[in-house]
Amino acid sequence: MQVLGTIKGFRAARRDAAGPVGLVPTMGALHAGHLSLVRRARAACSTVALSIFVNPTQFGPGEDLARYPRPIERDLQLAEDAGVDLVFHPSAEEMYPPGFATFIEVGGPASRWEGEHRPGHFRGVATVVAKLLVITTPQQAFFGEKDFQQLTVVRRMAADLALPVEIIACPIVREADGLALSSRNVYLSPAERPHGAALYRALQEGRRRVAAGERQASTIRAAILAVLREAPGVRPEYVAIVEPQSLEPLERIEGPARALIAARLGSVRLIDNVSLADEGLL
Ligand code: AMP
Repeated sequence: MQVLGTIKGFRAARRDAAGPVGLVPTMGALHAGHLSLVRRARAACSTVALSIFVNPTQFGPGEDLARYPRPIERDLQLAEDAGVDLVFHPSAEEMYPPGFATFIEVGGPASRWEGEHRPGHFRGVATVVAKLLVITTPQQAFFGEKDFQQLTVVRRMAADLALPVEIIACPIVREADGLALSSRNVYLSPAERPHGAALYRALQEGRRRVAAGERQASTIRAAILAVLREAPGVRPEYVAIVEPQSLEPLERIEGPARALIAARLGSVRLIDNVSLADEGLL
């Protein structure tokens, strides 16, 4: 495994790489969710590239940029064990040199939900993902459904800019109680941690309602919120029932639909989502 800290160095290593390249972009603090993306990439591509970069432009003022975990030695060991070939681990100065002034603005699926609650977040995400794709030139790039809106925004950007890359969606990896794995879960105190499972429990309630024949989005949304509100310390930011490509809210579930949640638990902001209407459910 080669670890490259500069764009020039990565490009040189990339030129020597065999066959199709798969990119897994991450902010590090790797867990089994990230490693499931690496496994998907490993199965599909001859060369697997992993980027580890805590991207400052996607954090808002008052967010957790400074305290975001950066266990780089452990990450490199996990990456090597998972069969990663190339790691791109640039500094902030390498990605955003003095005078940097170009950003990608995404509308449409970026406008609501996380876009409203974290102004500027997707501008930072789209910019860094576009730059990582230009630097690494992968045939495929792997993203988790955990960040469903991010995945949708990246798909939209890749289509709109005709980027020569296939965006591959990977399922959410969860703890035994349903809490979606996240690098931020380490911020949960032992007292808070059990209540983190409320998000998935609430989403499962939404799925149950749809499976039982409920089609009115407002009723399903209310059922999800009711479960969230039962959990001590969980403060919902939004619960949305959306069409999965536009992320526009649905009034009725007649086809593909996704339920999205953001909630605070102590000092931690958690997000999660499920499909409400996958094959056989309607
Ligand atoms: P991050 O390091 O949080 O920016 O995440 C890097 C990539 O890993 C993103 O595509 C995430 O959606 C994905 N990811 C994070 N957590 C999970 C999870 N629990 N299951 C699947 N993918 C995940």
